Amino acid sequence: KKKPLPKPKWMQATIPGGPKYAAIKAKLRELNLHTVCEEAKCPNLGECWSGGETGTATATIMILGDTCTRGCRFCNVKTSAHPLAPDPNEPLNVANAIASWGLDYVVITSVDRDDLPDQGSGHFAETIQNLKSLKPNMLIEALVPDFRGDPLFVEKVAKCGLDVFAHNIETVEELQRWVRDHRANFNQSIDVLKMAKEFAPAGTLTKTSIMLGCGETPDQVINTMEKVRIAGVDVMTFGQYMRPSKRHMPVAEYITPEAFEKYRAIGTDMGFRYVASGPMVRSSYKAGEYYIKSMIE
Ligand code: SF4
Ligand code: SF4
Repeated sequence: KKKPLPKPKWMQATIPGGPKYAAIKAKLRELNLHTVCEEAKCPNLGECWSGGETGTATATIMILGDTCTRGCRFCNVKTSAHPLAPDPNEPLNVANAIASWGLDYVVITSVDRDDLPDQGSGHFAETIQNLKSLKPNMLIEALVPDFRGDPLFVEKVAKCGLDVFAHNIETVEELQRWVRDHRANFNQSIDVLKMAKEFAPAGTLTKTSIMLGCGETPDQVINTMEKVRIAGVDVMTFGQYMRPSKRHMPVAEYITPEAFEKYRAIGTDMGFRYVASGPMVRSSYKAGEYYIKSMIE
């Protein structure tokens, strides 16, 4: 049996804490919001929630429940073929709760809901429409499932008033079957991103993310980036895969900060409007900063 790779020194994360964090956590319980930040024990939480140096407070909120109909090999979310039915009041309640939190930038995401006739797309659109009418200046990113590539569902979300349409391809083209659930695939995800760009009003950004360290080669990363760019995607992010538990696929490699930096430079040369690349980068990491930066530049 192979032993897990030791964590390199650049991966040592700080555990979020402090009185400010405790106060926000208490408020979240009151608002009944579920954040990926907490559930994934994200090491960037302190920085994102407080706004960090840029003053742009960011968080990632989960809708449509905590149970996914799929099972990807890297993901720690609970799975079931028949999760609980969505709460019909959620689009309004979540919008009210986010509005009262006072974020500058919010990422709204969900598990995959293959069990629902509209794959959960209506729930996304309604939540975002409600939030935009409450807080017109808050920047909203939807990080969505592939909706099985259905153009009607992609269109519904792309036209609901969001600022950023994000869908993660998760890994290079060659490792899709190894890393993601069998219902996901590279071409379907690329098509979703392409369609979103066509359907969304001018100025809406599209975004995708991949995890590195799953066993991909640098050439595979660059080929994948090229295909993503051809699909018109504006923002791409790269982070290190971290294994949530021993039941999940192992880390094949810890990518060095220098290699991450190389991909950032290559991506910028390819014409992405913004590239975030680093060991601790998560798909939503300081998302507000990305958006604002790419708009001014
Ligand atoms: Fe939350 Fe994403 Fe920031 Fe992590 S990186 S704290 S998940 S917003
Ligand atoms: Fe996790 Fe998304 Fe895969 Fe579901 S579809 S198992 S939430 S990565």
